[in-house]
Amino acid sequence: MQAIIDKIKNKERINQEEALKLYDLELLELGELADNIRKEKFGKKSYFNINRHINPTNICKDTCKFCAYSATRKNPNPYAMSSAEIVEIAKNAARLGAKEVHIVSAHNKDVGLNWYLDSFSKIKEAIKDIHIKALTAAEVNFLATEYNLSFQEVIELMIKSGVDSMPGGGAEIFDEKVRDKICKGKVSSKDWLKIHEIWHSKGRQSNATMLFGHIESRANRIDHMNRLRELQDKTGGFNAFIPLVYQRENNYLKVEKFLTANEILKTYAIARIFLDNIPHIKAYWATSTINLALIAQEFGCDDLDGTIQKESIQSAAGAASANGIKLDEFISLIKNSGFIPVQRDSLYNELKIY
Ligand code: SF4
Repeated sequence: MQAIIDKIKNKERINQEEALKLYDLELLELGELADNIRKEKFGKKSYFNINRHINPTNICKDTCKFCAYSATRKNPNPYAMSSAEIVEIAKNAARLGAKEVHIVSAHNKDVGLNWYLDSFSKIKEAIKDIHIKALTAAEVNFLATEYNLSFQEVIELMIKSGVDSMPGGGAEIFDEKVRDKICKGKVSSKDWLKIHEIWHSKGRQSNATMLFGHIESRANRIDHMNRLRELQDKTGGFNAFIPLVYQRENNYLKVEKFLTANEILKTYAIARIFLDNIPHIKAYWATSTINLALIAQEFGCDDLDGTIQKESIQSAAGAASANGIKLDEFISLIKNSGFIPVQRDSLYNELKIY
């Protein structure tokens, strides 16, 4: 173990086997290693943005076992917003100070390709300086398959319609065997990575998630991070890595043992150490709880996502994010935990230091 610790202190890259071994380290010792890297990169700054999540439809052709959001799973209330409704929500969000709309949906075969794209161009027409983060690689894959387009063509249409960056959703866990059990039929790991590679080749940035705490092993998590690290070495297009804690309610995945805070914090810390080429590690409070996200600031995380305003996907499975969090409350929570709240834009330019 000492050889791995020395490597980390000497800023040498660790391999997958060494990253896995880090789980055996005592939590606070591991946390300190990750915290030293975080401090060197960002000091005590903790980033967040003022954003609005919009989830325009929950009608989905896919059947992911962990999903509590889709109306084809356990959600009894199917819906699809009109373009006008989506634009109205974005306008209201901008009036309330949102700089970013984060738009992700289910894979709805009935609404048509233009429903997805028109909403983006109408938002851009109505609100000039809004950043649109939209369409996960899973949605890109769905649109390409459904409308007989290449990934390249869907991505060009996204750019033409005003999408600025891609969210990191749909990655779940890249290991093919686990993926088959939890979300068979959804975008493959290979295609998820391919879509982000094409997006990055256009000079655009994106994020990457990892859903953990279900049936995956620790080794599966490290393998997931390794595939991202390899792509990032090629493209440099990922801004942030976002480990999403699995939410247990209202779904068909039978998970008996849930993650401890210790395991979640260790995973954040290992991500900070292993992903030496992805700048930001996000503790997405909607899935970790706000209290654990605040603690995660001491375990390598430098980003707490944002105020959210409203969220439907994680909250359907039990997360406390349905109505977001108030800005002044968010700021004082970060301050009281000993960190400096920094409002950022979607590409991590600093807008305001509190
Ligand atoms: S996670 Fe997404 S793709 Fe899977 S069933 Fe739910 S809405 Fe559909």
